[in-house]
Amino acid sequence: MSRKPIISGNWKMNLNHWEAIQTVQKLHYSLPKEVYRDVDVSVHPPFTDIRSVQTVIESDELELQLGAQHCHWEEKGAFTGEISPLFLAKLDVKLVVCGHSERRDLFGETDEMVNKKVKAIFKHGMTPIMCCGESLEEREAGETEAKVLGQVVAGLDKVKADQVASMVIAYEPIWAIGTGKTATSEDAQAVCKAIRGAVAAKYDAETAAEVRIQYGGSVKASTAEDLMAQPDIDGALVGGASLDPEEFSRIVQFA
Ligand code: PEP
Repeated sequence: MSRKPIISGNWKMNLNHWEAIQTVQKLHYSLPKEVYRDVDVSVHPPFTDIRSVQTVIESDELELQLGAQHCHWEEKGAFTGEISPLFLAKLDVKLVVCGHSERRDLFGETDEMVNKKVKAIFKHGMTPIMCCGESLEEREAGETEAKVLGQVVAGLDKVKADQVASMVIAYEPIWAIGTGKTATSEDAQAVCKAIRGAVAAKYDAETAAEVRIQYGGSVKASTAEDLMAQPDIDGALVGGASLDPEEFSRIVQFA
């Protein structure tokens, strides 16, 4: 089973809509066209940029996929400040990140909420990128697998096997996000392999062989090659380095 790698740029709360347009155009010019045959590439701008980025992608017929960083599970209603998955799908958003550690830690996103989001994202024809990861204390206490696999199993509660096969799971050790510390490729591979094992145990070997697993945590062009060479790592969720189109383009080309 060969899985197509996927590299996703999580811009977090950076780049206004003018900067977003320039960044996408620069990224487009720094990526060889043929790259999309071998790798899926997505950008996840702030919500205020989504319409602008969608217009650039559509008018220039870019193969870049539009992503979001988060959404609510309800379609509409009294949820001030929240974003509907229905509205995202209408803007041609293809992939939505859920369960990012910043959402979990800063905004109280729980495994149950992540699970509702995964189902809502699928309901609206988009693909979830479901994040999981351990803190430094949990890693040092030898609890990495228990924490990460617990998040994965809870996030996939009552999600169907064919959906899981088509989704993306991002393993992001919290201590490596935005810190400049990358997990060694061996450590990242070990956890990604354990995630695939948990999917096999919950579903079956075929589903586990198809689900794509990204690594995220201070990925740079200089660390991407080793990470991408690991058998259970199918791409990267990139934060800081995705704001620089040339650096991000180099990471994509390692995939
Ligand atoms: C992220 O935001 O998902 C991330 C991995 O950030 P960074 O690459 O900056 O560590």
